Amino acid sequence: MPYPDLFQPLNLGFTQLKNRVVMGSMHTNLEETERGFEKVAAFYAERAAGGVGLIITGGFSPNDEGKLAPNRCVMREQSDVDDHRLITQAVHQYDAKICMQILHAGRYGFTPQQVAPSSIQAPISPYTPKELTNEQINQQVTDFAHSALMAQYAGYDGVEIMGSEGYLINQFIVSATNTRDDQWGGCIDNRIRFALAIVKATRAVVRQDFILIFRLSLIDLISDGSSADDVIVLAKALEACGVNIINTGIGWHESRVPTIATSVPRAAFRELSKNIKQYLTIPVVASNRINNPELANDLIASGDADLVSMARPFLADSQFVNKAMQDDAAAINTCIGCNQACLDQIFINKIATCIVNPRACHETEFIVSAAKQVKNLAVVGGGAAGMAFAVYASERGHQVTLFESENTLGGQLNLAVKIPSKQEFLETIRYFNHRLTQLKVKVYLNTTATAANLTRFDQVIIASGIEPRLPEIAGIDSDKVVSYADVLSNKVVIGQRVAIIGAGGIGFDTAIFLAQSREQQTDQQLQQQFVEQWGIDLSLANAGGLVAPKIESSPRQIFLLQRRLRKPGADLGKTTGWIHRQHLKSKGVKMLVGVNYERIDQQGLLINVRGKQRLLEVDHVVICSGQLAKNSLIEQLGDIPYHLIGGAKQAAGLDVQRAIKEAAILASQL
Ligand code: NAP
Ligand code: SF4
Repeated sequence: MPYPDLFQPLNLGFTQLKNRVVMGSMHTNLEETERGFEKVAAFYAERAAGGVGLIITGGFSPNDEGKLAPNRCVMREQSDVDDHRLITQAVHQYDAKICMQILHAGRYGFTPQQVAPSSIQAPISPYTPKELTNEQINQQVTDFAHSALMAQYAGYDGVEIMGSEGYLINQFIVSATNTRDDQWGGCIDNRIRFALAIVKATRAVVRQDFILIFRLSLIDLISDGSSADDVIVLAKALEACGVNIINTGIGWHESRVPTIATSVPRAAFRELSKNIKQYLTIPVVASNRINNPELANDLIASGDADLVSMARPFLADSQFVNKAMQDDAAAINTCIGCNQACLDQIFINKIATCIVNPRACHETEFIVSAAKQVKNLAVVGGGAAGMAFAVYASERGHQVTLFESENTLGGQLNLAVKIPSKQEFLETIRYFNHRLTQLKVKVYLNTTATAANLTRFDQVIIASGIEPRLPEIAGIDSDKVVSYADVLSNKVVIGQRVAIIGAGGIGFDTAIFLAQSREQQTDQQLQQQFVEQWGIDLSLANAGGLVAPKIESSPRQIFLLQRRLRKPGADLGKTTGWIHRQHLKSKGVKMLVGVNYERIDQQGLLINVRGKQRLLEVDHVVICSGQLAKNSLIEQLGDIPYHLIGGAKQAAGLDVQRAIKEAAILASQL
């Protein structure tokens, strides 16, 4: 069997998990929608059918004050139990187990009702929490245990008690957020008393064969977080109190260190799960930026973990496990860690989905069925939209032919992979290429489609993408001016001083590319650079795991410019925009807003910033000023029916998510 370590069962003594794959907790916002529990049941059932051994649900709070937001669900009443039965019954149709996560937000609750060990406002919350009294703390403990009992009644195989990421339990454990001087604060034994009281109270009310998982923060990545000893003391005490599995958490939500974004190297925190495992006899789960079966298997085989948790990879591909078991890992649609369609959506109260899999979280309404009438379809353009359409349409049984004028598929994705930390897009290109081959789609590379070779098709799908917009600036034809495409494909050698016109997604990407100090790096070098750049101390010699960052300086002076008077990169993702801004700032990139471009000449770029003229003496000016749709072919098509998707349809605001989603929707309609 492929990946034998990953797919071996795990015996917990009283029950067995069929493999070592955990689908980690991830909120989708589905529960809060109409008939939300039916939708979330379908979502989990598809992952259970896809071969996952153990699913952990998104977090449910034990009471109102523990809610993350006012509309979030609690697990408390009989009516909640009835809702949850939909989930457990759906999952148990397949040979999978499911545990419900109990999450008390504490001071992270986006509600004025929030409570905490001490009245200290979180930097990411607009509210100051009320300090819990001794009696109220005991009530929280009771509520956790009651919630677990309700989960048992609902048919769950166990619960995960959320003790990491800076939520209530974590707030008790850490002195930065717990300044109490009673039995719940002060020394480590007092600070972990709350966590242990919850575990003991829960163990006392549930069956002995009910799985009890505790999510333990291995590194808080905040000042005055847990020390290495604190983590070990708590882990051992949790085991002694009857916890069956230790799941692991990395970093608090308020931490200014990326922990799951694409810029985090794969399995960057594996050393921490390896370390805690030596103090425990119960299984330990590794998590964070694990997205392929080879790496997951290696984590188990090397002894660094007993189980591997992946959350977003199951949004990207519900059949991850089945495909790996069939030794067809190339057919896995890989999570690229972008957060764009999942976490970024959650933060704006929308339903999560996935940029590479628009069906994720829409399982009940987005049903892929065989085409009623097989059509002969031509796709013009082999970028994200064209490749995705060809795959989705072909999966429905249509005959599809794909024309690409370049010598390779991928379009703009081939430029994106040049950006440090965006190499994961190679996986997206690999996935679609593999599926096109499996589905026997006819692909013509180096072929510019014309009306003449499209007449034989029933319909034509124009996915010819975008071309860069050239702004009207005096001197724009100067030899100092270069396009981002030429920069990213290394067609030009860029000088020591450079101005970038346009601070959108591509302007930021280009700045990151030009500010990198080293190109080709090994995995070890990338890991080293990551921990140094963000000041991560994996030994936890400093409580919380932070040290002073070590930044490699940029090899050139970079100006990143935009006309509008707003934060540069304001449209970047909520969960990743700050990472890009902080990274460029640390590299000394000068970001100017409110810029008027006056002239480009041999001296450089003359700008006017709010009435003040300034000459940027740069060697090159890189144009990143947005895109225009490339679709002139439609003028030649005459009577041939056609559809436009992706950038060819609308260049403004185009990203991979929209390209693939439009492709999927059109393919489902033809
Ligand atoms: P974009 O995000 O729309 O940015 C275009 C930039 O050019 C803006 O900063 C705009 O700002 C400036 N601009 C527009 N017209 C101009 C003109 N005539 N003269 C001078 N400046 C002009 O477009 P993009 O950077 O090409 O990105 C394309 C798409 O890919 C976007 O939807 C983007 O979100 C997405 N993308 C996202 C990411 C990411 O999230 N990390 C990365 C890459 C691409 P001013 O008008 O204020 O100057
Ligand atoms: Fe992964 Fe991005 Fe999809 Fe989220 S949107 S699941 S991070 S690929």
